[in-house]
Amino acid sequence: MKTLNKHLPKTQYVHEYVDQVFETVKKRNPNEMEFQQAVKEVFYSLVPVLEKNSHYIQQAILERIVEPDRIVSFKVSWVDDHGNVKVNRGFRVQFSNHIGPYKGGLRFHPSVNASIIKFLGFEQIFKNSLTGQPIGGGKGGSDFDPKGKSDAEIMRFCQAFMTELSKYIGPDVDVPAGDIGVGAREIGYMFGQYKKLRGAYEAGVLTGKGIGYGGSLGRKEATGYGAVYFVEEMLKDAGESFNGSTVVVSGSGNVSIYAIEKAMQLGATVVACSDSNGYIYDKGGIDLATVKRLKEVENKRISEYVDEHPDAIYMDGCTGIWSVPCDIALPCATQNEIDENAAALLVSNGVKAVGEGANMPSTLEAIDVFLENNVLFAPAKAANAGGVSVSALEMAQNSARQYWTLEEVDSKLHDIMKNIYTKSKKAAEEYGYAGNLVIGANIAGFVKVADAMIEQGI
Ligand code: NDP
Repeated sequence: MKTLNKHLPKTQYVHEYVDQVFETVKKRNPNEMEFQQAVKEVFYSLVPVLEKNSHYIQQAILERIVEPDRIVSFKVSWVDDHGNVKVNRGFRVQFSNHIGPYKGGLRFHPSVNASIIKFLGFEQIFKNSLTGQPIGGGKGGSDFDPKGKSDAEIMRFCQAFMTELSKYIGPDVDVPAGDIGVGAREIGYMFGQYKKLRGAYEAGVLTGKGIGYGGSLGRKEATGYGAVYFVEEMLKDAGESFNGSTVVVSGSGNVSIYAIEKAMQLGATVVACSDSNGYIYDKGGIDLATVKRLKEVENKRISEYVDEHPDAIYMDGCTGIWSVPCDIALPCATQNEIDENAAALLVSNGVKAVGEGANMPSTLEAIDVFLENNVLFAPAKAANAGGVSVSALEMAQNSARQYWTLEEVDSKLHDIMKNIYTKSKKAAEEYGYAGNLVIGANIAGFVKVADAMIEQGI
């Protein structure tokens, strides 16, 4: 390892320090490309903070924050409808509980591995801090593929998964929620199993529960609505708005559907959405009721939309969606869905703003393209924090044994998203990067956790 030269000019010294810590991260986590990408984005955006606050370097905050408190990997064996024994791998990564219990969703998708869960858990530390709610950072999931499984298979898998996971979670310890492939149905089955294992009704152990047994009104809508509220603030500052704009939203899952709904309520025309097979383009504006029925009720492919709407077109391949001209792009499907080429295409078609509903949907190169071309850019950590914010509100309601109305929850969500925008904007300005919300969100999220780490000792 290089020895740091403390006599170098400060910026160069801090850069070399960050290079050095990042090199160690790469060595310790080889082949974990998504995790390395998330760490790189955060680390280098913290250079201005480290320059002004050398105690963060002395206290080895970067070295400590990037190492999870623990990672649990476990076997999940279950039996399918034909009597075959299946084995999947489950994960839970607990990154930081400095400002509250570990908190973050569970993802069920065949692509899940340690790198994906660690990138998501790492991002969650800063996102949760930005919400202003008392929640730390964690994430989990499994390489189980829910597609094509019967309801009984989903239930047996969720029960087997929770049998292991239950050893590591609790309302004051670690509070999982949903993510890709995990919605209210899966949370329900997992909560049922947890309750049996504990012999107690600990409502606050999971969020995203059904409304009848401890769930919060507005949680289902929160991530999508929150992303649009955040982008609305960003547009307002630039003298723009959703009203009258053309919008493209990737995905057609939980985040996408409610981002589409809120954008439409604010007067936008949403012309395209997608799933992992392809995308639809409906020039006059997509019919959200059809998308909701196909995806939320019937579990069908987005291609079937065109059977009912012959004026719309369906194209195979999900990345093609970024060739559709739009004013505002909201990537709400998955990580790295916008690469440098897709970003350049969006820019050449005149995109004015990009709001990340999904986690890390833009590659580092794509983000550079947006920033270099003065596209208003709302990074995931800040823009999609609405979901976990309402999860924290769900925990608060569970602790108080109270239920808030949809209006109360939505108004709190709106305020939280405005605050996150203001915090991110101010932090960017304070450190000399006015207008760069990537840097602003990382700094604002980091400082609160870093200070708590110092106050709580080593
Ligand atoms: P869902 O499972 O409800 O929906 C995911 C959507 O993305 C589906 O339309 C799915 O298509 C599509 N998709 C999945 N994988 C790919 C892929 N490799 N390429 C293209 N499309 C893909 O998940 P959510 O809506 O909950 O999550 C979406 C994103 O938002 C994720 O990045 C998640 O981490 C993030 N997020 C979610 C939060 C929440 O509250 N739910 C909170 C904060 C962030 P198909 O139907 O074909 O699988």
